[in-house]
Amino acid sequence: MDNLCKRCLLFDMAGHDDVKAQLEKTKKLMGPEEKAPDDVYEKRLSQCKNCDSLINATCLKCGCYVEIRALSAATKCPAKKW
Ligand code: SF4
Repeated sequence: MDNLCKRCLLFDMAGHDDVKAQLEKTKKLMGPEEKAPDDVYEKRLSQCKNCDSLINATCLKCGCYVEIRALSAATKCPAKKW
């Protein structure tokens, strides 16, 4: 696979406009009780950015885009890092 970006989040990478739009749409649709607080969300993404399992904004442990996975208050990291 070309253009692998280790430890990149979506907004670190060019392109992926469809997924970026999906992320923004999901953020707007989630109620405040469903969504992780902003500080928790940022902390989760910081942990993902320091994780060897993050490639092209995708977690190799679960196959999710971490910026979308980390949005939900109830979601957990598959490697128990958050
Ligand atoms: S294993 Fe956890 S910390 Fe690592 S990329 Fe996946 S969700 Fe993020």
